[in-house]
Amino acid sequence: MVIKIYGGTRIQAAPNLCETCRCSRIVRGTRDSEEIVFCSAMAMDPVRITFKVTSCTDYVDGTMPPYHELVQQAWILTPATRRRPAGFVRGSELQKEELMRATHEPPPWMKG
Ligand code: SF4
Repeated sequence: MVIKIYGGTRIQAAPNLCETCRCSRIVRGTRDSEEIVFCSAMAMDPVRITFKVTSCTDYVDGTMPPYHELVQQAWILTPATRRRPAGFVRGSELQKEELMRATHEPPPWMKG
């Protein structure tokens, strides 16, 4: 019988999450030993990270576009207005108020 325990043993070869995290600031010199990592996710002031991070609950993938950029590219279903019928509109074509309403308010069919 094989018993598999997930998360029991840490993987040594796992990548350092701080390398791709949006919250990190990494300063490097010419030598491998010359590296300082600061994390801005943990407190008011950046905290220095002195080890390789393989698991972090505050990790934000810096290789993906941030939420506001995705919203600009997205097709957003909008209700009819005086200027246009109901339908999908590019996020970048919406007025600021319409964009706020579309992304922060639940759609009418979800309101109780
Ligand atoms: S949030 Fe986690 S992964 Fe990101 S920089 Fe801070 S410690 Fe590293």
